[in-house]
Amino acid sequence: MTPKNLEDLYVHQLRDLYSAETLIIDALPRMAKKASNPQLRKSFEMHLEETKQQKERLDQIFSRMDVSPKGQTCKAMKGLIAEAEDFIDEAKKLFGSDSPSAVLDAGLIAEAQRIEHYEISAYGTVATYAETLGLHSDHQLLSATIAEEKKTDSTLNDLAKTMVNPAAVTA
Ligand code: FE
Ligand code: FE
Ligand code: FE
Repeated sequence: MTPKNLEDLYVHQLRDLYSAETLIIDALPRMAKKASNPQLRKSFEMHLEETKQQKERLDQIFSRMDVSPKGQTCKAMKGLIAEAEDFIDEAKKLFGSDSPSAVLDAGLIAEAQRIEHYEISAYGTVATYAETLGLHSDHQLLSATIAEEKKTDSTLNDLAKTMVNPAAVTA
């Protein structure tokens, strides 16, 4: 479907995000399983639960508009997740299958932050559209999600700086 106006483009962008969140819900458990640092593992697990809520919020928006959330694939998120999986596979070869590794943790954080930044950008766009279109309740739902994505990004940043990266220097 070619978007003809801002509302069409809004649906188009929301479907991309719906696909992205679906892909993340699938990938986060694997990333959590690979994390050695207990706080990193916990933050992945917490964000998995938040991500399910985020998908739920998108579902609310789609059902109000009475359109299907499906029909698009976020190729960017597929690519970001493929990079994360490649990294996990390479790390397995380097460090052995289940040995705890701060380097693996640092790499997982790097991949996860790329994912959060994509989401912050894309949700920023749709929140702005919702504002322009006068969709106040959508704007509130999307803003709640943006706050969670930003919080996750900053938690990951703090973990990297204070614990994981320093531990990886001599790992
Ligand atoms: Fe999300
Ligand atoms: Fe996308
Ligand atoms: Fe996220």
